[in-house]
Amino acid sequence: MSDMVHECGVFGAYNVAHAATTCFYGLYALQHRGQEGAGIVTCDTSQFFVVKDSGLVSDIFNKESLTYLKGTNGIGHVRYSTTGGNNKANIQPMYSKTSKGKIAIAHNGNITNAYVLYNQLKEAGALFQSTIDSEVLLHLFATSKKRSPLEAMQDTLSHLEGAFSIVAMGDGYLMAARDPNGFRPLALAKLGKGYVIASETCAFDLLNADYVRDIEPGELIMITDDGVESHRFAEPLKRVSQCIFEHVYFARPDSDIFGLNVHQARKEMGRQLALQSPVDADMVIGIPDSGNSAALGYAEASGLPLEMGIIRNHYVGRTFIQPRQRIRSLGVKVKLNPVKSVIQGKRLVVIDDSLVRGTTSKERVSALRRAGAKEIHLRISSPPVIGPCFYGIDTPSKDQLIAANYSIAAICEYIGADTLAFLSVKNLLRAVQDDPHNRFCTACFDGKYPVKVTHKGKKIFESRKERIQLYGTSNRY
Ligand code: AMP
Repeated sequence: MSDMVHECGVFGAYNVAHAATTCFYGLYALQHRGQEGAGIVTCDTSQFFVVKDSGLVSDIFNKESLTYLKGTNGIGHVRYSTTGGNNKANIQPMYSKTSKGKIAIAHNGNITNAYVLYNQLKEAGALFQSTIDSEVLLHLFATSKKRSPLEAMQDTLSHLEGAFSIVAMGDGYLMAARDPNGFRPLALAKLGKGYVIASETCAFDLLNADYVRDIEPGELIMITDDGVESHRFAEPLKRVSQCIFEHVYFARPDSDIFGLNVHQARKEMGRQLALQSPVDADMVIGIPDSGNSAALGYAEASGLPLEMGIIRNHYVGRTFIQPRQRIRSLGVKVKLNPVKSVIQGKRLVVIDDSLVRGTTSKERVSALRRAGAKEIHLRISSPPVIGPCFYGIDTPSKDQLIAANYSIAAICEYIGADTLAFLSVKNLLRAVQDDPHNRFCTACFDGKYPVKVTHKGKKIFESRKERIQLYGTSNRY
């Protein structure tokens, strides 16, 4: 029943014609970061308007609800979580009235000391409405002894550990902050006379907003009618640890994150993989869509032709991202179909971005065999995932990570491939130009966790009995 904020997307708009529409398009572009629920809070002459619900952005918002969301400032959130999916109280943004005025907050990441803070706050009398670590933020802000919203937010953020990219809105301001390690991306752009903030730059492209810069690790920016002010809530670290898995899998290829385009980074991973683990084969095929960029790089570097060996049904969501296993395995079959006439009798290099549980790869390999592939050489454009992520990516626990429990030879046999190879950590870092090696977190691949995890990452806990369940499909306030 524990609930954690995982792969999420955040968005903010300040001084734009109609904030709700801008947030809607921003969230639409960030939909891949979370498909379980979404919300927008806008502010119009100190009044807050809220629409949030479970489901996809396009299902939740319509003309009526967008019209209801008045104002030129707003923030939004798309959410994904492993459990407690139907608990609508967990859908963000969170908002409240405090002694520093109204505030709404949207958070992406995972606060590793949330459990400790939650218990401290509860002991002190805080009334929690949800089980997400983001609510801790609201309480810290509300109870901060600092008087101004800026100082109260600086104070709040200084208590947090782990991963957090945040947008917050109050009456007449928008704030955005990134944790000192810079785990999750967050960027600022100019839109007309105003500003927008987004987890990924693909949201700016959709809005024709002009990218200004990334929010720095440990930085808190404050946007008001006077412009953008930069503040800090933590000293700069010598070594930041931005999530390499954003580049491997999570972010959209058309986004630039951590100073690098995601597609180019993945293509380079494929190129490195071809140099590191070559194969005598007839063609390269990528697993759509996550393996496509790396497959292109592998083909280029190896000189083998790139083919469309698997076609994706675009009307199915990300398979893995469905929290329940039953839906996930059905999704794998519905989603991808091998092209028989392309692969029949051929020796294939099959490229995918990552191998986590190994279950989807196994199904894909057997589908390619059924379609007549002569040889299947699986090449993964990232290293074996050997440890869970405590900083906001949904990786299963160690017992479910196939590479944490089996040798590469055993995995290859389980999956049914002829050969299997992974990109090394060193070559992965080379692909993202991490030289000297000091910009990325590679904990899921090498077990080096840059921020200590209190209580083994224990989450805020709520049993079914304790839960307060909201009625209805709509969750407007
Ligand atoms: P499997 O090895 O069966 O667990 O599946 C790995 C596949 O899931 C890869 O092709 C990735 O594209 C995708 N994947 C990896 N990590 C994640 C994640 N955290 N959330 C959603 N999908 C993921």
